[in-house]
Amino acid sequence: MAILVQKYGGTSVGSTERILNVARRTLEAQRAGNQVVVVVSAMSGETNRLIELAHAVSSAPTDAELDVLLATGEQTTIALLAMAINSLGGQAISLTGAQAGIETDSFHSMARISRISADRVCGFLNQGKIVVVAGFQGMTQDGRITTLGRGGSDLSAIAMAAALQADCCQILTDVEGVFTCDPRIVPDARKIDEISYDELLEMASSGSKVMQSRSVEFAKKFGVHFEVRSSLNNEPGTMVTEETEKMEGVVVRGVSLLGNQSKVTITGVADRPGFAAKIFGALSDARIRVDMIVQNVSHTGVTDVSFTLATEDAKRAERALIPLLAAFAPAGGEEDVKIVTTGGIAKLSVVGIGMRAQSGVAARLFEVLADAGINIQMISTSEILIAVTIDEQQGALAARTAHEAFGLQENS
Ligand code: ASP
Ligand code: MG
Repeated sequence: MAILVQKYGGTSVGSTERILNVARRTLEAQRAGNQVVVVVSAMSGETNRLIELAHAVSSAPTDAELDVLLATGEQTTIALLAMAINSLGGQAISLTGAQAGIETDSFHSMARISRISADRVCGFLNQGKIVVVAGFQGMTQDGRITTLGRGGSDLSAIAMAAALQADCCQILTDVEGVFTCDPRIVPDARKIDEISYDELLEMASSGSKVMQSRSVEFAKKFGVHFEVRSSLNNEPGTMVTEETEKMEGVVVRGVSLLGNQSKVTITGVADRPGFAAKIFGALSDARIRVDMIVQNVSHTGVTDVSFTLATEDAKRAERALIPLLAAFAPAGGEEDVKIVTTGGIAKLSVVGIGMRAQSGVAARLFEVLADAGINIQMISTSEILIAVTIDEQQGALAARTAHEAFGLQENS
């Protein structure tokens, strides 16, 4: 029998009616001849509600206790879903992340999965049960509850699919699949039938909120093919796989916009070996995701370095860097080393593996943005991506302009 892993996000289990809808769908999937594992998120809004509760009793709750609290969101959903399946005549059993054998490191609030012991899950599948697993959570080796970072249920599902060597993994959500751009920004955006891991990774980290980037990285690493599709109908969604030759025929697969970004600049640092390593080492130790990095050419042995990151991480980044500042100063220039943070930035990305074989995409992008009166602040490129930072206020205009310039409404 084929093993199917389905993941339902917060909106898809956002009410008791929706949970019953999910229950019916999992039963259909089982009747179609699959062994079914369902990974679920907390009901929409619940994780945020719990975070607020924590802050009502403490100004600085520890990450370890926050994890215990946040894990209850998903624990509620697994119990309700298992009850719903049973009430419809099925046989389900709910398991927390720990019970499902998901072992993680001990970096609370952003733990990494280190191992999955799938024996218990397999045992229940072989008894004909639908196994309902709490997403977003795991357990350290010494038995503490951890969570995997916001949006982490995607990762739980992909990792479960890898551990079970599932035949199919479906990420069921409130959108129909991955689109050429966010339809709320670009109304004529179209659903993409097939996309490569690398393209989705670029799109995910560029703001297409369909999936958590870490889970796409994990899927790529372990070769888990998955489909992003709607939990509200039976239409096919977007298949995410290794790239195929056919995929290269499309130069630009999608355009993506990431708002709420800030730029941090450290000015007046001595240009000597090791300072970039220190800066980005400290940020990485704090598990802060840095996006674009630019270092200026130095004049008179002094330079500055800028990077972008999510605005919500900017304060944490400053705190991680302040203790290092003195060490970056040129002799006698201690006063001039400063951290300057500017918010209100958006990143626009144009993504496609076909860009490897095609030149002129960057020139075309810059040209249409200029024609629309949009100023480019920073530029970064990879083989399959061109990204620019712009004023956030012009983000939607920039996305629509790029989407149209590359004809995405017609040929996706
Ligand atoms: N409930 C968690 C969150 O809101 C995990 C998830 O939904 O994937 O981030
Ligand atoms: Mg979610």
